[in-house]
Amino acid sequence: MEELSRIVLITGASRGIGRSIALRLAKSGHKIAINYNSHEEDANNVLNEIRNLGSDGIIIKADVSKLDEVKNMINEVEEKLGSIEILYNNAGIISDSLLMRMKPEDFDKVVDTNLKGTFYCTKLCINNMIKKRWGRIINISSVVGLRGNIGQSNYSASKAGIHSFTKSVAKEVATRNITANVIAPGYVSTATTDVLSEKVKKEVMSWIPMQRFGEPEEISPIAAFLSREEARYITGEIIRVDGGMAI
Ligand code: NDP
Repeated sequence: MEELSRIVLITGASRGIGRSIALRLAKSGHKIAINYNSHEEDANNVLNEIRNLGSDGIIIKADVSKLDEVKNMINEVEEKLGSIEILYNNAGIISDSLLMRMKPEDFDKVVDTNLKGTFYCTKLCINNMIKKRWGRIINISSVVGLRGNIGQSNYSASKAGIHSFTKSVAKEVATRNITANVIAPGYVSTATTDVLSEKVKKEVMSWIPMQRFGEPEEISPIAAFLSREEARYITGEIIRVDGGMAI
């Protein structure tokens, strides 16, 4: 099926999984807004890579946990590229510790970035999607949002929140040709997992039937598929890409 060129926003696309999604979509000729928070040079490199693959876009700095910054970001994308048709809520952080040591600010910053950021971006894109009667919302959560994890009560709560948020949005906009889905990755080799000690990595490996971490390039194909016209009857779904970890 021939795909139209679309306007795309990917949050947290300067590195890791977001970068891989941007590169995968670049082959479709979309116009891609690459959001970043602190790594401008990395975001610029992604934009150059997209251009080399035959697409175009812009880079855009915004902290998704701050409503004002999200508003400015969406306005700028709309002015420069047009109204957003495909939204990837990918930006996410961790701040791990056992509950008894977890500070309220560590809980807040993870929930504010992962869950509230997803809420802000989706809320500010949805009106134009409804007007156009077409849209794709793809939220990146984690298997930890399905099964919990020691030391990640804040992160797992934020990701589980994304699951029910997405299902509710999917129901609200289903008649408008807008789908909302979740991809729940397992452990993927990125800056997030690079910081794990060898001891922790070994333990994590024992939970994964495939006995290896995934690569960003193993997440981006399904992320790209969900944005396509032919994925129009899939909504409210949570798709694990985790080497079997949450079986
Ligand atoms: P990385 O740490 O490699 O990259 C995170 C990206 O998010 C960066 O582009 C970063 O921008 C951006 N970001 C962080 N905070 C903000 C913010 N407040 N506002 C805007 N952008 C922000 O992460 P991954 O690629 O590993 O993770 C991507 C998503 O996948 C996250 O939601 C994560 O929870 C999820 N995930 C990852 C797994 C893994 O094992 N790696 C497993 C399961 C889920 P910058 O660098 O410019 O600050």
